[in-house]
This record gives sequence, C-alpha cells and structure tokens, in this order.
Amino acid sequence: MRSVTDQRVGAAPATGETGPTMDAGSVLRVAIAIAFAYAIWRMGRAVLGSFARPVPEPPAPGELRKVKLQYRCDVCGTEVRMTAANDQMPEPPRHCLEDMILVTPVDDL
Ligand SMILES: [Zn+2]
Repeated sequence: MRSVTDQRVGAAPATGETGPTMDAGSVLRVAIAIAFAYAIWRMGRAVLGSFARPVPEPPAPGELRKVKLQYRCDVCGTEVRMTAANDQMPEPPRHCLEDMILVTPVDDL
C-alpha cells in the first residue's frame, strides 16, 4: 500500500517566489527603454510647443514712441535713422552682424 507522501505533484518546489520574475538584466533594459521613451516624448513636446507659440505681435503703431535716432555701422559706414520704436532708447539695429553705433547729437536726444 502506497502512502500519500510518495506521490509527486507536478508543481515547482516552493521557494517563496510567486510566479515568474525578471532578472536584473531585463529590469535594466526596461528602465532604459522607459527613460528613452520619456526623453523622446519631452523632445517632441518641446518641438511642437515652439511651433504652437507664435511670436508676440508688435504693438500697434499708435503705441510706438516717436524717436529720432541716427545710427552708423562701424564696419561699412552705413547710416540709418530710426523714427519709431517701442522704447525711448531701443536696442541699436544691426548691420554687418554688428550693433550699429548711435550717432545722434546729444542735443537731439
Ligand atoms: Zn554695415
């Protein structure tokens, strides 16, 4: 007569683990994949956001200040006169890739 304890059940020996687990290499690969996906998502959002945000419109002509400023290009000598600006002392325009020099006489400022 056979005892019950002699019968082998077709189950894995109990080791305390519940179900299949990933080894360290798989966990690392999944972590890298998630990090890459997040980085690509962030880049895509940044690119689309730059398209969606239009350049702010310049103020209406009535809001511009009337100025009478004369600038000269220090490289080639070109002179220009600025007649309207959004500030009393606006940034100098550029010519020949350099900021132009304000040559307005001090009396006219
Ligand atoms: Zn120039």
